[in-house]
Formats: sequence, structure tokens, C-alpha cells
Amino acid sequence: MAFYEPDTIFSLATPNGTGAIGVIRISGKHAIEIVSSIFKGKTLTVPTKQQVFFGSIYYESEIIDEVILTVFRAPHSFTKEDTVEISCHNSRYIVHRILELLQRQTLYARLAKPGEFTQRAFLNGRFDLAQAEAIADLIASDTKASHHSALNQMRGGFSKDIQLLRQKLIEFAALLELELDFGEEDVEFADRNDLKKLIDEIQQTLLPLIQSFQLGNSLKDGIPTVIAGKPNVGKSTLLNTLLNEERAIVSDIPGTTRDLIEDEIILEGIKFRIVDTAGLRETKDTIEAIGVERTQQKMKKASIILYVFDATIISLIELKTYLLELDSLSIPYLLIGNKLDVLEIEKKVAIESIANVIWISASKKQHIDSLKQAMLQQVQATNFIAGNTIITNIRHYEHLHQTYEALKKVLDKINRHVTSDWLALDIRDALNHLGAITGEITNDDLLATIFSKFCIGK
Ligand code: GDP
Repeated sequence: MAFYEPDTIFSLATPNGTGAIGVIRISGKHAIEIVSSIFKGKTLTVPTKQQVFFGSIYYESEIIDEVILTVFRAPHSFTKEDTVEISCHNSRYIVHRILELLQRQTLYARLAKPGEFTQRAFLNGRFDLAQAEAIADLIASDTKASHHSALNQMRGGFSKDIQLLRQKLIEFAALLELELDFGEEDVEFADRNDLKKLIDEIQQTLLPLIQSFQLGNSLKDGIPTVIAGKPNVGKSTLLNTLLNEERAIVSDIPGTTRDLIEDEIILEGIKFRIVDTAGLRETKDTIEAIGVERTQQKMKKASIILYVFDATIISLIELKTYLLELDSLSIPYLLIGNKLDVLEIEKKVAIESIANVIWISASKKQHIDSLKQAMLQQVQATNFIAGNTIITNIRHYEHLHQTYEALKKVLDKINRHVTSDWLALDIRDALNHLGAITGEITNDDLLATIFSKFCIGK
């Protein structure tokens, strides 16, 4: 392996702007020396692990700021390199001056690229690639559920399982390769039944991970939820009621057109993304047929449908038709009977005899809590929140999927008694995909793409 010594790098690790404290991180061979040359205080000794120093940053005789230095001695730092963190007062001026000073020292140091600290931590074996990616997700997480899945992944999550299975598969691959060496002699070092068992075990591990991807995305981006129903049943009123109640944590995500506006509500840490309600509202103004078609398209993309009907005017026959239609979509739905405030009791009883209804009054805000509980229960019932590991990263998903497919081919070939060279080919393919997840097999381009998504200073 070619030996190269990475540059010493630095950058602001806290958000750019004013605030109580800003942290500037310097990592690399010259980190401690460079900071020593601009710092006056208690003599900066090199600690065995970590040590904190109080003093000031100077430019010649001019004092720039009073700071706290935390000095980390390799390998006891995030990057496993010598690292210094300067905690200064977070004024743009001070930060700018300190960064400039670091750049100007005789010993070479440069500004870090986005994600470069994390990349070094990965390259120096602090964690594997999947864990490094989880750090980016952790920083981006904004709900309890997305935080939980990122944290789980960062702590090792499925990496350990993948590495273990990969190891076992490597042993088989080695035996198969040995068979190849014996060429024509028709020997089998790798027991085909044992190999089948191992593949089965690996597939059992992979399948729930692969299936969790949709859930993972939902937790990260919000569970796609559609409020559907005929015009004038109270959909917009319900949406507003739901949003108003959650005003503090609601955000609008403006899209390119009005059609793409999405609203989010967070209930007990689970984000629901109410999809394209603007589009649905439009059905009032467009030709009925187009409106219906659009609504149906939207409904098909949903993970949960909140189907609203106006209980005061619906007929039982009409309701039965809707139920059949909803059942045919195979998407979990909640049937919501609106306008409870003006509903006659006989009608309510009649409807209840044919359907399981959540009764609300959207305009009078009655039973909205029961609706929210039902939404959460629906999420739990459809296994959205299992205690299990959840895949949120599309790169991981694709490699897991490819591994699964390669192993399927191996199984098929064993059953057809195909020769070892062909088996070895697919096993190698599976090994490469497994290795790519945790970064045992990687390349510079891939790393650059992954780490460039991090913010500077991370
Ligand atoms: P959408 O077309 O389905 O979005 O329906 P809207 O939300 O625009 O509501 C249609 C009409 O029903 C409006 O006049 C609302 O004020 C009224 N409405 C909505 N919810 C209720 C309710 O719970 N009770 C009563 N009495 N009227 C409601």
C-alpha cells in the first residue's frame, strides 16, 4: 500500500454565525504544534490522551480571543489523529481571524473539505462506512423515530451482522476456489448442503433489512398520508385542524408548483407527510373525472389513507361502494365520519352497523385526539415501528438487494448442480456487495460522493 501522509486540516465545527461558543477543529500531524504557535497560556504540553487548556489566541502581540483548547493525542480523538479543538467566542470576526491565523503558519495546514474529519475517522478505522453515513443522518434527524434509527445504525446496527455473515461466506468462497484448483478432478471441498444452509441464513438476515427500507424512508421523510374523499366532506377543514393543533412543529415544504406543497405533522415523534393535499383540493375545480383519477393516483402512493365522508348526507349504498374501493387498494386506511356535530343519532347507528368509523367534527375539533391515536396505531399495526434495525440509506438498500439476488442465483445453481466456477462467480459478487456496505470494499470516487454530503467541519 502506498504510504502518504495526510495534510493537517482545520475548519469551524459549529454552525457559521454568531453564538455563545464556536469550535474550530484542527486535525493532523501538525495540529498541536500549529495551535501552540498562536496560543499563550498554560504551556501546551502533549497529553497522553486528552487535556484541556485555558489561554488566549494571539497574532503577534495582538490578542484575538480568550479560548479553551481541548487537545487530543492520537489515537484518542475522533479522527484518530492528533486533534485540537479551539472553543472561542463565536463572532464571525474572531472565527475568521483564527482560521486565517491557522492558514498562515509555517507548518502547512489547509481548510477541511466537507465531511473530511469523518472520512479520516473512517479511513483510520474508527467505524465502518455504514456507521459514518449514519452520522450524517443523525445530524439531519428531526424526529424521535429518525433519530432512533440513525443512532442505532451509528452504534453498529446491522454492520456487525453483515461482517459476520460476510466472513462465513468468505470461508466458503475459499473452499470453492480450492475446488477450482483441482480442475477436472471433481472434488467438493465446500459441502453444498452447508452452503445452502448458510445462504438461507444470510437471506433470512437480509430480507427484513431490505423490507425495512420503505419504513426507513418513511421514518426519515415522513409517512406518506393522503386525506381523500369527495368534495365538501371536510377534508381541508380536517387538514387545517390537524395542522393548527400542531402549529409549533408544522412546516410547509414549498415545491416548484402549488401542486407539490406538502404538510407535515409530528405525532409522538412520528412524522406524517400529508401528500399533495393541494392537488386533492383542486378536484373541486377540475372536471370530476380528472379529479377522481388524480385522487386515485395520490391514494396509491400513500402509506395511509384518511378517507373522509360527510356522514350527514352519505347513503349506506354509497358508503358500501367506497369500502369496496378502499379495500381493493390494499393500503391501510382509516374511515372518518365527519360532521358529527350535526349528525342524527339514527344515521350514526345505521352507519355503524356496516362500517368501523372514526367519528369526528373537523370544524368543531371534536375527537381529533382519537383520530391521531388511530393514525399512530395504524402505523404500529403496519409494523412501521419495529424494534428492529431499519435501513434508511438507498446505497445500503441497493447493495443488500444485489447481495440477495446474487445468493438466489447461487442457490439456483447448486440445485442445478452447476460447476464450482460458476458458483464462485456469484458468491464473489455477493461478497463485493456486502463489503461495499461497510466499506471493506470501496473506491475513492464512492468515498468522495458519500463524504461530500456532509457539512464542512464534520
Ligand atoms: P373539502 O372539499 O372536502 O375540503 O371540504 P371543506 O373542508 O372545504 O368543507 C366543506 C364544508 O363543510 C365547509 O363549509 C365546512 O365548513 C363544512 N364542514 C367541514 N367540517 C365540518 C364539520 O365537522 N361540521 C360541520 N357542520 N361542517 C363542516
